[in-house]
Amino acid sequence: MTDTYPSKPLLKVNGLKTLFPIRKGVFQRVVGYVRAVDGIDLSIDAGQTLALVGESGCGKTTVGRSILRLLQPQAGEVWFDSQQLLSLPATRLRPIRRHIQMVFQDPMTSLNPRMRVRDIVAEGIRSFNLASSRSDCVGRVTRVLERVQLDPRQMLRYPHEFSGGQRQRIGIARALAVEPKLIVCDEAVSALDVSIQAQILNLLKDLQNEFGLTYLFITHDLSVVRYLADRVSVMYLGQIVEHGETERLFTAPAHPYTKGLVAAIPSVDPDKRSVTVQVLGDVPSSSNPPRGCRFHTRCPEVMERCRREAPGLYPLPDGACRCFLLEA
Ligand code: SF4
Repeated sequence: MTDTYPSKPLLKVNGLKTLFPIRKGVFQRVVGYVRAVDGIDLSIDAGQTLALVGESGCGKTTVGRSILRLLQPQAGEVWFDSQQLLSLPATRLRPIRRHIQMVFQDPMTSLNPRMRVRDIVAEGIRSFNLASSRSDCVGRVTRVLERVQLDPRQMLRYPHEFSGGQRQRIGIARALAVEPKLIVCDEAVSALDVSIQAQILNLLKDLQNEFGLTYLFITHDLSVVRYLADRVSVMYLGQIVEHGETERLFTAPAHPYTKGLVAAIPSVDPDKRSVTVQVLGDVPSSSNPPRGCRFHTRCPEVMERCRREAPGLYPLPDGACRCFLLEA
């Protein structure tokens, strides 16, 4: 499928930094920064899926919001379809927003409970003037609901009248209705039962094949990305620690953190359960990340040097890894 799309990246992120000031005292003086996203690079070719994976608090959701400029990054570049989004004025950003949609984790909070499904899905169609008439708008809503396997006869109902999986389908329909190029899925299946997760992942894959969609799939759960993602970027404390092709990353992870995440995936086959040491302990605070390698406080392979020096990214045949163990 991907052969039919241009190979140049649809989305390219260079050196993205999003910091949150920490304020204290009566005068709310800035005493430090939470380094939520600390200089990351990403690239997604059109029609492909990049999974951005990491534990909660690693900064991955901030990446998604910074790309959409729902948060204002302090540094870096976000190139989408050859336009640098971070330097665009709001008036020029607006038409581009149509092409970058978001699907959120919790459809119950991201769908307005007082709006009927028809109006939720039609909101973007109206906002970007995509329908030539009222009946054209309803026709578009009907087709998109059918496409996500919802019954259009239910379009006058409210979100609370649907199951969790159906609500996520409404969220996907809302995104799809404006014919986007890129969809940022932020923990889009995390709140769902495993069987419903599989249905939603199948739906996302089908929609990608049909419409050539590009996905940035943000998740804490590595197990859900193997089926969907072409490439994976693993994030730890605001930095990318490994990126590469999905299959290699699952079968031969290079970074000790990725090894721990892969080992933590439950296997139904006891013979295939990994004996690798899993990642223990909590993620340190991103307002005060550890010196040297940020992962050294939890790394089962830590060396003396790791406590003093920060590793750069060492190249792999299909990506890169931020660990001294990869030094030639
Ligand atoms: Fe572990 Fe050292 Fe590699 Fe960091 S650089 S991941 S502490 S071995």
